[in-house]
Amino acid sequence: MSRLTVIAGPTAVGKGTVVRWILEKHPEIQVSVSATTREPRPGEEDGKSYFFVSDTEFDQLQESGALLEYAVVHGSHRYGTPRQPVEKALSEGKQVILEIDLQGARQIKRSMPEANLIFIAPPNWDELERRLAHRGTETAQDIAVRLATAREEIAAVGEFDHVVINAEVAECGQQVLDLMQAS
Ligand code: 5GP
Repeated sequence: MSRLTVIAGPTAVGKGTVVRWILEKHPEIQVSVSATTREPRPGEEDGKSYFFVSDTEFDQLQESGALLEYAVVHGSHRYGTPRQPVEKALSEGKQVILEIDLQGARQIKRSMPEANLIFIAPPNWDELERRLAHRGTETAQDIAVRLATAREEIAAVGEFDHVVINAEVAECGQQVLDLMQAS
């Protein structure tokens, strides 16, 4: 049985909301907290949303092998999954979720082929653009970069074990849970 689930999918598709819904139902599931070199957004807490680190700190994590995977996302900042908490949780028999980008998902599939890769897809492209614009946290240029990344991610959907469409959070969350329990 695979206890490691990778959730990926285009920006603003609502992955974070789906993962929070799953955690409310199943607080025993561990969600990995990534390290990133990007600045915190308003309301984001260090150690909860991300570990916000400097470039030098990220270099050290990378070089010491402390990351399970890492990637430059949206052509700017680095993001990576701390290895130790994931390995510890798996060794304790817990279910673990990684919410990471396509490049990271590919690295995990190579190093841990038993991982279950789930792609969260938007109901359609217009809806994705609408959600991204309404989030209101990014500049127009950021939005354009994120949409370009989203196009690449959607093109790679065939690399995933499962695809779940996020039209409605509870329905999507339940489908992901069912897949986690079935795998
Ligand atoms: P945001 O900056 O909006 O929080 O996240 C941008 C993207 O980075 C999202 O697609 C998210 O899935 C991805 N991401 C977050 N943490 C990690 C990580 O640890 N590794 C990788 N490869 N991608 C990540």
